Amino acid sequence: MQGPATIKILILDDDTFMLKLLTRMLAKLGYSAVTTCDNGSDALRKIDQIDTRPELILLDLNMPDMDGIEFVRYLVDRDYRGKLILVSGEDERMLRTAEKLVQAHKIPMLGYLHKPVDPDKLSEILQKWTESIAASPLPVSKAYSAADIQSAITHQELVNYYQPKVSIVSGEVIGVETLVRWHHPQDGVITPNRFIQVAEENNLIDDLTRSVLTQAIIQAGKWHQEGQTLRVSINVTMDNLASLDFQDMVVNLVNENNLPPQKIVIEITESQVMGPDARVPLEILTRLRLKRFHLSIDDFGTGHSSLAQLRDIPFNELKIDQGFVHRAWQDDTLRAIYDASLAMGKQLGMDIVAEGVEDRNDWDLLRQTGCDMAQGNFISEPLLPADLPNWQKTWHQRILDESLVSGQ
Ligand code: C2E
Ligand code: MG
Ligand code: MG
Repeated sequence: MQGPATIKILILDDDTFMLKLLTRMLAKLGYSAVTTCDNGSDALRKIDQIDTRPELILLDLNMPDMDGIEFVRYLVDRDYRGKLILVSGEDERMLRTAEKLVQAHKIPMLGYLHKPVDPDKLSEILQKWTESIAASPLPVSKAYSAADIQSAITHQELVNYYQPKVSIVSGEVIGVETLVRWHHPQDGVITPNRFIQVAEENNLIDDLTRSVLTQAIIQAGKWHQEGQTLRVSINVTMDNLASLDFQDMVVNLVNENNLPPQKIVIEITESQVMGPDARVPLEILTRLRLKRFHLSIDDFGTGHSSLAQLRDIPFNELKIDQGFVHRAWQDDTLRAIYDASLAMGKQLGMDIVAEGVEDRNDWDLLRQTGCDMAQGNFISEPLLPADLPNWQKTWHQRILDESLVSGQ
């Protein structure tokens, strides 16, 4: 079992005196594998490397460049699996709100500490944590290398799953979102958070997207032939839009499969940094839109989907990030962000999709507020195409049995 001396801890605080103080407090408690950073960028570099990736981060909320909340968003992008303790001089209410935001992003919080930090409170939080580790050893998730991912693409181990998007008014299945999974020969089904970023950083994202797009458009063609009026969404990052070849690839695939372009939705998330020349992505997206493909802005409300994108790109659809949908019915902060995103999208004439609809309460909020479409495990998990017909039957029955839409 891991002892305190081997648990990797990172402290991030712009105040170097605070860094020293916390390091000393931790040392007294037996935690000696401690690194410190006085800015978010350095900390992210440590998190990106396996040998320096911490299991616990003590995070200051108030920092001049990248503040604590922004830093948390980057942790989410990196699929950070460790724990977090917030440290701040802000009042109780502010800390509680920050804690809720962190929890909405599903980053496990151990608690928060007020400045000046009380060593006993720190000790208490850490003790609770180490006791829980001792009770249930954490599974270590394996990191995959660029070579592993390259091989997965070559050996066609990437498999598309499809998650239904339904109309909130009628319950009708409007479309499906393509979500790639890796059918790993030893490790089983691996979700994209564990390999997309590595692919992006190692110039493999174009190959990966080509594989996903090809499968998805062939599948969409089959559904179209069978008379299923499904729109198929595909996730694309800004990195994919760096070369004009992307557009030709999509247009050719759609033509080869006799598919009307309206059946394809390109969901866009911005990747880490937008290249210096934003004209190429803009040109590709505008031309796709002119050809009647649908464009969707994904994860709206998070750092990577910005208002500037809304202004510059002719989107048809806005997807409110799951972090602001699930539990928005009972949490004022989430609700405020949800309401604002919905109102903005409506004002701009876009279809609004709420992601991460997990339960009946979430569903009812969407009904009350006039959201257009829902996606989430309450409706269905991502499915293999063979499982779609059965799910559709069950869903139509559920609409009736559970009175999911008005007038049923
Ligand atoms: P996304 O596009 O926002 O996709 C929604 C994610 O939410 C999916 O995670 C989906 O499985 C998950 N989800 C759906 N319903 C629920 C729910 O009720 N509760 C919760 N907590 N989660 C739900 P997944 O499949 O792990 O994908 C994660 C992200 O990876 C996607 O986020 C997307 O940005 C990216 N991704 C997936 N496939 C591709 C791809 O082919 N290419 C690229 N570039 N990115 C992809
Ligand atoms: Mg998406
Ligand atoms: Mg999303």
